[in-house]
Amino acid sequence: MSNNGIFQSGGGRVQLSEEEIKGRIAELGAQIQRDYRGEPLHLICVLNGAFVFMADLVREIDLPLTIDFLSVSSYGSRTESSGEVKLVKDLDQSLKNKHVLLVEDIVDTGLTMQYLMNYLGGREPLSVKVVALLSKPARRVVEVEVDYLGFEIEDAFVYGYGLDVDHKYRNIPFVTSQGE
Ligand code: 5GP
Repeated sequence: MSNNGIFQSGGGRVQLSEEEIKGRIAELGAQIQRDYRGEPLHLICVLNGAFVFMADLVREIDLPLTIDFLSVSSYGSRTESSGEVKLVKDLDQSLKNKHVLLVEDIVDTGLTMQYLMNYLGGREPLSVKVVALLSKPARRVVEVEVDYLGFEIEDAFVYGYGLDVDHKYRNIPFVTSQGE
């Protein structure tokens, strides 16, 4: 089947292949499954970027978990976030008596995660932890703890596997960086 060229990286360098991502998510899922066995696990997907990761991750966790979604926007230019975070879509379900696992696509400055940890912590969950597919530690502005991490990457703007460039390319099945 033709892919019209959109699944080629357009001169960019593929950083993480479909196989690498799938393998790492299976490991993360197994670890989460071990850690939360017998507990009320509630996964919260940060839209839009984490939707692909969330869909694959939940299928690697064989527990009676529940899920919810929220959406934030951060202002700034296309590739730089300003650090000003705004809640665009709130949760549908209460967090009371639940162990929350926040599912993030990428932790960059850490400001979005810091905002969300404060926000979720105020809603009386039993605990809040974070699973992120990607982290760019070189870009960190605030210190945040990522409990389960897929891959640490260098300071480059990446897209694909849920992450966008101007709302596009989220459907590319691998993660790539823009061409030099
Ligand atoms: P932070 O608040 O940690 O600076 O930024 C987190 C959000 O910025 C991520 O959830 C993601 O939406 C966006 N972001 C940060 N780095 C990248 C990147 O390399 N590529 C894309 N597409 N989005 C990014």
